Amino acid sequence: MAFGNMGDDCGTGVAFTRNPATGEKKLMGEFLTNAQGEDVVAGVRTPMPIQEMADKFPEAFAQFEQVCKTLEDHYRDMQDMEFTVENGKLYMLQTRNGKRTAAAALKIACDLVDEGMIDEKKAVAMIDPRNLDTLLHPQFDPDALKKATPVGTALPASPGAACGKIVFTADDAKEWANRGEKVVLVRLETSPEDIEGMVAAQGILTVRGGMTSHAAVVARGMGTCCVSGCGAIKMDEANKQFELAGKVYHEGDWLSLDGSTGNIYGEAIPTVDASIGGEFKRIMDWADKYRQMNVRTNADNPRDAKQAMKFGAEGIGLCRTEHMFFEADRIPAIRQMICSDTVEQREAALEKLEPMQQGDFEAMYEAMEGKPITIRFLDPPLHEFVPTEEADIEQLAQDMGKSVQDIKNIIAGLHEFNPMMGHRGCRLAVTYPEIAVMQTKAVIKAALNVQAKHPEWHMVPEIMIPLVGEIKELKYVKSVVVATADEIIKAAGSDMTYKVGTMIEIPRAALTADEIAKEAEFFSFGTNDLTQMTFGFSRDDAGKFLDAYYEKKIYESDPFARLDQTGVGRLIEMAAKLGRQTRPDLKLGICGEHGGDPSSVEFCHNTGLDYVSCSPFRVPIARLAAAQAAIKNPRG
Ligand code: PEP
Ligand code: MG
Repeated sequence: MAFGNMGDDCGTGVAFTRNPATGEKKLMGEFLTNAQGEDVVAGVRTPMPIQEMADKFPEAFAQFEQVCKTLEDHYRDMQDMEFTVENGKLYMLQTRNGKRTAAAALKIACDLVDEGMIDEKKAVAMIDPRNLDTLLHPQFDPDALKKATPVGTALPASPGAACGKIVFTADDAKEWANRGEKVVLVRLETSPEDIEGMVAAQGILTVRGGMTSHAAVVARGMGTCCVSGCGAIKMDEANKQFELAGKVYHEGDWLSLDGSTGNIYGEAIPTVDASIGGEFKRIMDWADKYRQMNVRTNADNPRDAKQAMKFGAEGIGLCRTEHMFFEADRIPAIRQMICSDTVEQREAALEKLEPMQQGDFEAMYEAMEGKPITIRFLDPPLHEFVPTEEADIEQLAQDMGKSVQDIKNIIAGLHEFNPMMGHRGCRLAVTYPEIAVMQTKAVIKAALNVQAKHPEWHMVPEIMIPLVGEIKELKYVKSVVVATADEIIKAAGSDMTYKVGTMIEIPRAALTADEIAKEAEFFSFGTNDLTQMTFGFSRDDAGKFLDAYYEKKIYESDPFARLDQTGVGRLIEMAAKLGRQTRPDLKLGICGEHGGDPSSVEFCHNTGLDYVSCSPFRVPIARLAAAQAAIKNPRG
């Protein structure tokens, strides 16, 4: 046992061989004379920077620097070490690969490649994809930041920008966040009990503690902005206020934190989206070199599509057309379509919608610059679109020349006990094929127009029929699509080809995938519904009871976030195999939320899927996760 608290020629320290916040190749740490390890970590005394140790203990420091190099050379990674100096002599207590911010992880990985310590594959493998999130999230608007003056500064413990209302306890942070407020949690110091409040907060500011304090380490781990050790704050926890630079701040006042500079601002500063560059781009380029799956995005408006393109999306794996139906300019026509009594009335309403849908698709094709887009036909139950407000019901009645009571009766008739298992998905197109006709016309006409404008693009529209469970229902809807599409293409004198595929999101479709593949030219696994229907619990209600399942260790994690590989995964494996037995070139993808979850992406790689599709901000995560899966288990 070595003691660091036996006098002034003793001390203790915690250090990283490189800066864990920025990745800079420079020893970073903290040291306290006449102290034991917990004193540094607890943040009770604010320690001195490690470099000052060189003055106090020159020999031990020189030896320490040498040890750092030896350890890095051996582990080929940044080290997080604890040590003690007893009577001037250095004792190493422990070393491990250090935790780091996402930015630091990228820089360290690139530097290690440049230093010849590791190769590109190792660099790709050593980045935790989930941490990339922190780089993809907002920073302060640079113009607004220029106009702002910091009211204080402290340690830049965890980078990023945070702006929120001040709260003083973890419980308040949780409660305020639950009611939609953005909060900054201000504490003397944090402890493990504060974790939920820290998770709920946009940022964390502590009065005490260094870069290795609880607040700093935990915030870095979760990618939350944190400024620590602001000794200038006069804290009055009892009255929920503090004083900084002559001004008193109360609960609910705005505060902004810059976790990269340590600056504190007594005002709200707007934030802007992050942009990718430098080391991020290098790592992503390497990831793209080694991954074997494509990465698409789920997007249904040009803004999201463009964002996803910036993040490297190679196409759209799921365009949910119903999201376009909710736009204010078309909801009256949708409602008229739903409340029609006859096919003629319905077709008249659909005729109004067609040019709008066509415009939507043209904008999407333009945004994606000719990259593939899988357009899914109308999926949700119709009652989701009907009016609930009296004034809207009256308006609809007037538009349709019906009585208010007629409209109310129609709406009442749409009631379903279990709409998620009701009249939705391809069942809508089976009962109202004219909806599929309208959507097909809009897709094909849009593709033809965009193709004419951009002859260099190779437009191959992909039409996806949702919620298929039986080959004959796909066959029926596909026949409607094909008849409509072929007629338009022929009339245009074009040789455009298109694909019709389906989502595999009902267990019966997975079980009969060999049959389904006779009609479907591609499968996209809709793992949100597939999870719901395989487990037999509602994706909207499961949150109410799943906590008890985690507590009792029945389930480890939320199956809607992380693919249940044992059950749902088995259906996917089976469907992939059966589908490709029928159609060896069957294209396979996933477009449920799991498409952006690293462990699920690995499963998709191992199952032989061609692509994953996820929300725009998760595209880089999926690219990296796909590369890691390919490096770990390359496909033949
Ligand atoms: C799915 O079910 O996985 C899916 C992507 O479709 P949605 O979430 O729109 O039902
Ligand atoms: Mg679905």
